[in-house]
Amino acid sequence: MKLYSTKNKGKLASLKEAVLKGLPEDNGLYMPVEIPRLPSGFLANLKQHSFQDIAFTVSSTLLQGVIPEAGLQQIVSESINFPAPVVRLDDDKYVLELFHGPSLAFKDFGARFMARLMSYFNQGEAQELYILVATSGDTGGAVASGFYQAPGIRVVILYPSGKVSMLQEKQLTTLGHNVTALEVDGTFDDCQDMVKQAFLDPELARYIRLSSANSINIARLIPQAFYYFEAYKQLPDDGRETVFCVPSGNFGNLTAGLLAQQMGLPVSHFIAGTNINDVVPAYLSSGLYSPRPSIRTLSNAMDVGNPSNFARMLDLFAGSGEGSTWNNMHEAISGFAFTDTQTRAAVVEVYDKYGYVIDPHGAVGYLALKTYQQSNSNTRGVILETAHPSKFLDDMEDILGCAIEIPQRLAVLAEREKEAVLMPNDYPALKRWLLDSLH
Ligand SMILES: *Cc1c(COP(=O)(O)O)cnc(C)c1O
Repeated sequence: MKLYSTKNKGKLASLKEAVLKGLPEDNGLYMPVEIPRLPSGFLANLKQHSFQDIAFTVSSTLLQGVIPEAGLQQIVSESINFPAPVVRLDDDKYVLELFHGPSLAFKDFGARFMARLMSYFNQGEAQELYILVATSGDTGGAVASGFYQAPGIRVVILYPSGKVSMLQEKQLTTLGHNVTALEVDGTFDDCQDMVKQAFLDPELARYIRLSSANSINIARLIPQAFYYFEAYKQLPDDGRETVFCVPSGNFGNLTAGLLAQQMGLPVSHFIAGTNINDVVPAYLSSGLYSPRPSIRTLSNAMDVGNPSNFARMLDLFAGSGEGSTWNNMHEAISGFAFTDTQTRAAVVEVYDKYGYVIDPHGAVGYLALKTYQQSNSNTRGVILETAHPSKFLDDMEDILGCAIEIPQRLAVLAEREKEAVLMPNDYPALKRWLLDSLH
């Protein structure tokens, strides 16, 4: 497997380089040079394969032998170790639940797989690899648990003191082992600045091998393709056209669906649902891409004003003539945007109509699928439910007016003892701590 940068197709990187570096030097994004199709026999017999079988076949087809079979099997079995069930709402609408992992969001798939790929590529290095991340709350939890006990890797997470929720804090501070939480006396931006300074510090680089758990790392995208196949497998054999509807922010999830489609999954159309941060739906209808600062909404994991994976989408649909990229994308993807008021009403509607508790992100997906099916009634659609509703407890209880069930794995965190290192808002203090941690 070779990867190119979306800013320079001529400069190729190995998977090891792409995974450990995260981003090419030219600030483009890594993309596979070749997206091979799965063996047709495999696709025809999807129902006979377990989720882990599917994950192994999809990754080995894409990786083309970069990692020997036994090693890849182990990576898959340790990272794809919770289910992705499909729940039927009605004959036309299904929900793919992606929240059965440790941090209750789909990002667990990407974080766990990336952690194990990094460990794999770090084997044989004398020195530990340090993963340094700043978090405003949510992604930190997926990264912390994803890298938990990954051999040869230490995770250092900076979070702003008093600015994350109690359960988010517990997700970061109760793991121990190779995960250390630094509670910074500052804001999220201060945490991010400190991390940036560490990456730019040549003296630190002499002593410590640093890497980031960047959300656009190609290792996070690959495992997100697995569950599109897993979802398709669970649908009835009714011969109808299948569409996937993806609540989107940075468009990583949707891009992974496009990968699955190119590898042979029979998806007839994609639907992107967004909140009022609607630059991609606007592009799909007008052909004009105008990124702008994000606006805070109820579905806040999708508050993105300049989606980082858009460059990958442009590449996947690249055409030769003027306007042809837009034409290609426009034919393959429909986009719809919704306000918070509409989203709240959709949470209530899904509960009243189907008895299903859907989170605000999934509710945006529900609205987008419903809108699409008004003029495409012969399709059946799968909505990606990207997080468990209890992650947004206060909003959900406010919308539905009743208590929301909190899964055991989240509830037990409340009782665990927090362990964090207090850190002033000061880069030299972080540097000293990092250097001291080597001994
Ligand atoms: C990250 C996230 C999204 C957006 O996913 P992208 O891949 O960035 O489009 C949607 N919902 C939830 C709950 C998320 O955490």
